[in-house]
Amino acid sequence: MNCQQVFDRLSAYMDGELSASDRSAFEGHVASCTRCSQFGEEFVAVVLALRGVARPRPPESLLDRLRLPDD
Ligand SMILES: [Zn+2]
Repeated sequence: MNCQQVFDRLSAYMDGELSASDRSAFEGHVASCTRCSQFGEEFVAVVLALRGVARPRPPESLLDRLRLPDD
């Protein structure tokens, strides 16, 4: 998976619509790609939070942008 594919799948990933293999490729890319990491610590924080790896809550502005349910 390349950076463009990650961006294209971001919303699907957030909605849990990716297949297991796509999700694995997505997470693997974000974890290893400098460019995607630099896309924003916000982005990485959301990904990690969704995986239950990180405790910090993403900023509200990002939640709004990604339309995540606010629980
Ligand atoms: Zn990338």
